[in-house]
Amino acid sequence: MNSGKSIEILKVAYNYEEQGKSVIMMTSGLDNRAGVGKISSRIGLEREALPIMQDTNIFDYVQETNPDAACVLVDEAQFLTKDHILQLTKVVDDLNIPVMTFGLKNDFRNELFEGSKYLLIYADKIEEMKTICWFCKKKASFNLRMHDGKPVYEGEQVQIGGNEAYYPVCRRHYFHPTV
Ligand SMILES: [Zn+2]
Repeated sequence: MNSGKSIEILKVAYNYEEQGKSVIMMTSGLDNRAGVGKISSRIGLEREALPIMQDTNIFDYVQETNPDAACVLVDEAQFLTKDHILQLTKVVDDLNIPVMTFGLKNDFRNELFEGSKYLLIYADKIEEMKTICWFCKKKASFNLRMHDGKPVYEGEQVQIGGNEAYYPVCRRHYFHPTV
């Protein structure tokens, strides 16, 4: 999804580190567009991040490796599990470290991702990153999956490594993806 969120997360990290504060970078272990354990933006910036796997305990990791971190930044948070989100709440509440997560809310079928669902429930604050529809000038709130030039509305939520393409679109163009 072309929302520029990876650029944003790299910018936040830079702002902390410029002040000599350490940040912990994480991303979903599922996301392999750039390679596991990397946060990369379309403008070419990229950096290493801890890949969060199904059995990763985020709270334990933070407590054991860097309990004095100034911030925890998580990309592709939609792919996290409910357990991961609860571990992140403990990082905030028990370790007193702010956590910022970045991700998509709804999948191409317009269902919530598991990580996003529990972030909507547990997060202290939600901010929407605005993106423009691929086909018009309206705000894009939907992710259109295209396969061989045709829209797809059913199937597995996560399909990594296929030849699908995703486009940010407005509601009208979600259902009628033409210019
Ligand atoms: Zn549109």
